Amino acid sequence: MKASSISQTPFEGKALETLRNNFKGPLILPFDERYDPARALYNGMIDRYPALIAQCADEEDVATAIRYARKHGILTAIRGGGHNGAGLGSCDGGLVIDLRLLKSIQVDHQKRQVKVQAGCTQGEVDAATHPYGLAVPAGIISSTGIAGLALGGGHGYLSRKHGLTIDNLIEAELVLADGRKAKASEQENPDLFWAIRGGGGNFGAVTSFLFRAHPVHTVYAGPMFWPLEQTREILSWYRGFQPGAPEELYGFPSIMKVPPAPPFPETLHRQPVCAIVWCFSGDMERAEEAFREIREKYPPMLDATGPMPFPALQGMFDPLLPAGLQWYWKGDFVQELTDEAIGQHLEFGRRLPSDLSTMHLYPIDGAVHRVGQQETAFGFRDAKWSMVICGIGKDSSEKEAVSRWAKDYWAALHPHSAGAAYVNFMMEEGQERVKATYQANYERLRAVKAKYDPDNFFRVNQNIRPKKGA
Ligand SMILES: Cc1cc2nc3c(=O)[nH]c(=O)nc-3n(C[C@H](O)[C@H](O)[C@H](O)COP(=O)(O)OP(=O)(O)OC[C@H]3O[C@@H](n4cnc5c(N)ncnc54)[C@H](O)[C@@H]3O)c2cc1C
Repeated sequence: MKASSISQTPFEGKALETLRNNFKGPLILPFDERYDPARALYNGMIDRYPALIAQCADEEDVATAIRYARKHGILTAIRGGGHNGAGLGSCDGGLVIDLRLLKSIQVDHQKRQVKVQAGCTQGEVDAATHPYGLAVPAGIISSTGIAGLALGGGHGYLSRKHGLTIDNLIEAELVLADGRKAKASEQENPDLFWAIRGGGGNFGAVTSFLFRAHPVHTVYAGPMFWPLEQTREILSWYRGFQPGAPEELYGFPSIMKVPPAPPFPETLHRQPVCAIVWCFSGDMERAEEAFREIREKYPPMLDATGPMPFPALQGMFDPLLPAGLQWYWKGDFVQELTDEAIGQHLEFGRRLPSDLSTMHLYPIDGAVHRVGQQETAFGFRDAKWSMVICGIGKDSSEKEAVSRWAKDYWAALHPHSAGAAYVNFMMEEGQERVKATYQANYERLRAVKAKYDPDNFFRVNQNIRPKKGA
């Protein structure tokens, strides 16, 4: 074979050799024994086969990979934690710029700031900040990638008191679509800073985040369970209680089955329930008082709340939800929890299709509402809850049943919703859903996209199309 005929595609021959010479981290091709573990996503329902996985060793590698993909016109996905429900951390036949090796975390406990590289999980951030009695507001499962979570908004146990993850973002470092490095903050590229706070991975590959952290150490937390048939009374009580409760008290209701594992008593395993998972992050002396009303009015069949280190709460559900399960999920923001909606929650709770399928209703009021609707790209500051319905199966034999249940449940609830979902709770649902989620911020996002990524290089995401002629 002549040397000139070797380089047929960007994934072989001379082009690949040039990349190898300029790239420090592992480059993983389909015949490599590392390929299958490296391409696997958290959601086992999604099976993507990229042509090349470039595991970046540093920011320079990110820039090199982006320039290479640009030069050869290669479809490119950016992978943070690989947790995205729609599998948007990967793509078929293209390049995956995998950031998982970027793991540095620097805590400045005096300034209460944390610099986090984009390959970290939320649990790794918690582990680094906890010894200083600090925490960055993020989500509820520790294996989630901090990057994708933050870029979509990021809500969790501390949101009512300290806001979304993006409300605690001070600065980000990115590699832009043309391979240039840039910073985004209130002072530098403020338009970009506005857009990445909710606009997802549309504007560049973020290599690090500087977050504000808050004093959080021990929380009084855990789930309370009631028999499913009590759903109407529990959710009716909750919708009146939660919005008026102190911001340090966060409780998200769930329709689920009692997990068939310790520490839950065997007699309750697999019993369908209405649950509320609580986190009280205020003064521990006031914790019992925070739960007095619910315990007196509706004594739970199981009360698993108690004091615990914050990272223990963050990791509480991790063993139940290992990577590789089958997930079909759909969400919507909710402004009002109506009687009709509660009736549907009860109805679909009676039809839970698997041990792990569930519905969560996350509060996003309090501090989240104190940031203006147009101050960041996150489009639904006025919603009270962010709902997600998760059909979760242990393997492909449950795929059809869990997907059907989640779709039907969502269809029944959608008329009672705000009409759009949190971007991080969407499958690939089309442009209209993306547009709806950003509401009045959508056109401004398109203009920022046109400035920083006019050719839509970063398009494996909940995509914002660049505005023409902007
Ligand atoms: C079990 C589970 C629990 C969850 N709980 C919560 C929760 O409590 N709160 C919450 O807010 N969300 C939650 N989520 C949703 C989560 O925020 C999204 O799945 C998010 O996309 C995960 O980010 P990731 O980095 O792991 O994803 P990936 O799959 O790696 O990426 C997701 C998207 O972000 C882009 N992206 C990732 N990293 C970068 C980067 N560095 N630069 C540019 N673009 C990037 C990707 O291109 C892709 O479009 C949960 C998800 C799961 C599976």
